[in-house]
Amino acid sequence: MTINTPPQTLSLQDVSSLDATLKDFSLAERLALVAGLGSRSVFTTSLGIEDQVITAAIGTHRLPIDVATLETGRLFAETVRLIEETEDRYGITITRFYPEQDDIDAYAEKYGLNGFYESVEARHACCHVRKLIPLAKALEGAGFWITGLRRGQSGNRASTPFAEYDAERNLIKINPLADWDIDAIKAHVAAENIPVNPLHARGYPSIGCEPCTRAIKPGEPERAGRWWWENDEKRECGLHVAEAAQSSISPAPQN
Ligand code: SF4
Repeated sequence: MTINTPPQTLSLQDVSSLDATLKDFSLAERLALVAGLGSRSVFTTSLGIEDQVITAAIGTHRLPIDVATLETGRLFAETVRLIEETEDRYGITITRFYPEQDDIDAYAEKYGLNGFYESVEARHACCHVRKLIPLAKALEGAGFWITGLRRGQSGNRASTPFAEYDAERNLIKINPLADWDIDAIKAHVAAENIPVNPLHARGYPSIGCEPCTRAIKPGEPERAGRWWWENDEKRECGLHVAEAAQSSISPAPQN
């Protein structure tokens, strides 16, 4: 496996400075700046509405950023179709990263194919097989990981920065839409005629795997329809783990 290669010349102070610099830029400028920093940049899209805004910017401005998605095998048919539609629209390739069949079989044997409803442990185990392992492959060799995280998506994401060091993956995570609210996203999509998932119009502001996503009621938080049977208000799939203790950048693994 190829290790991630964060820009070694960037200290934590530099990351903080980058975070401050990005604040005053437009979306396209934020992406172009990061893409020009010399390390491989990977954008992972779930095809959600904010991710479509980022993909459109990458495609429209022909930015040297790799676009990848985690094809979990449990996506909505609408999401799968949108991957192809988006590729055609912007003339880009969205690389699909799939789970390993052996891992799925082992999960199904231990928990059952839909065992994720039974416990948080079983749900995390499924996300690990179908998302986290493929994510690690998608980010191999990357120095920058671009995401569509926004502060308004949930209380858990309320302090999302523009740039942060991801100690677990040893790279710098860039959240270029951190300060965009959902109204700004929708206005931009309408103005640019960006293709979006038709499920958004049916009450799904946040869309993940089909068995783990449902429509929300008016007034509910954007991510209330994700793993709705769990009580933990901070539920996530593990892709975006909290990085509370980041006092220093650890050196990149040497092998
Ligand atoms: S969101 Fe649901 S189906 Fe998708 S990987 Fe996680 S537990 Fe499995």
